[in-house]
Amino acid sequence: MADAADVPTVINVSGTMTALGASIAGPEVAAAMVAMLPRFVRMSELHALAGETVAAATGAEAGFVTASASAGITVAVAAAMTGADLSRVEQLPDTDGLRNRVVLQAGHNCHYGAPLSQAVRLAGARVDLVGTATLVGEHNVRDALSEQTAAGLFVVSHHVVGYGQVPLERFSALCHERGVPVIVDAASEYDLRGFLTAGADVVVYSAHKFLGGPTAGIVAGRRDLVRACALQNAGIGRGMKVGKESIAGTIAALAAWDRRDPAAIRARETAALRSWSQALAETPGVTTRIVPDPTGNPLDRLLVVVDAAEAGASARDVAAALAAGSPAVVVRDHEVANGWFQLDPCNLHDGQAAVVAERLRNVFAAARRGQL
Ligand SMILES: *Cc1c(COP(=O)(O)O)cnc(C)c1O
Repeated sequence: MADAADVPTVINVSGTMTALGASIAGPEVAAAMVAMLPRFVRMSELHALAGETVAAATGAEAGFVTASASAGITVAVAAAMTGADLSRVEQLPDTDGLRNRVVLQAGHNCHYGAPLSQAVRLAGARVDLVGTATLVGEHNVRDALSEQTAAGLFVVSHHVVGYGQVPLERFSALCHERGVPVIVDAASEYDLRGFLTAGADVVVYSAHKFLGGPTAGIVAGRRDLVRACALQNAGIGRGMKVGKESIAGTIAALAAWDRRDPAAIRARETAALRSWSQALAETPGVTTRIVPDPTGNPLDRLLVVVDAAEAGASARDVAAALAAGSPAVVVRDHEVANGWFQLDPCNLHDGQAAVVAERLRNVFAAARRGQL
């Protein structure tokens, strides 16, 4: 008989990656989901409690839980086009007669495992890209806003160009001058309040990334827009709806987030980074450095730079060897082509940091012997 437990476990030093199962859901989250699965409840009441929980955690007027952050972007765009008009909700993705353009800075047009622009197009809207990937001026944003603009979309992520874009405060101000709401994709960001303070009308988070919740998306923001997001469940949001167990798990994850001890978590992560940098300290052709998260999340990673000639293998080969071993150790490998990878300490179980240190030593030793 098939059993999911037979699928091999991976040690995740990559980050909160969808491809690896996102993050560790804690015991409170698991218990809340198990307790909810066999029950019947009025889903409207469960959604209402989730909305209040999201609002309390974010300082927003209202909140809504959907299937994922990607779904959250789609329903938020849909909400900006339909408002609370149910006929319009049912009309989508046909946008005849609706404002249907979404303004997006070119450097924010990213791929997070799927194209961001596709999450917009799924609602029936079209993306108006402004500026160039590496330089966007305020005039580009201003000129792109028109009578047809339903929303401005702003992305906070390591996936986007980190310079040359109009910052959120100014982007929001320009959109608001034209009465256009701003949707922020903050799927992977720890800051639950700052983007709303900076002018966002709606912010979208993943429940299954830093929050350690079940697979779900959290939408927080203006009451009318959040209500219009919820109405999409009677339209295009139906296929993106979230189950009772994931709503319960998301509520539990937000409660656990409130009670967490950030200093203790940080200390544990720093200890892991130090142990890896010590494990590699005498390794020829390898230099390491602790680097901060590029979007300011309160976490560091270990950058491992590999001189292939001296180490006997490239960063890409080393990452592949770590991933091919048992247990598989999967590193943060977006930039192996540049000769480095990173080690992310956020998703470790007890004892795994030591396993990673040993595997690093062994793989680099094999590389020196020419055995990779
Ligand atoms: C992960 C991510 C998403 C998608 O989030 P899901 O909840 O997995 O759909 C969207 N945008 C950014 C910037 C992300 O990092």
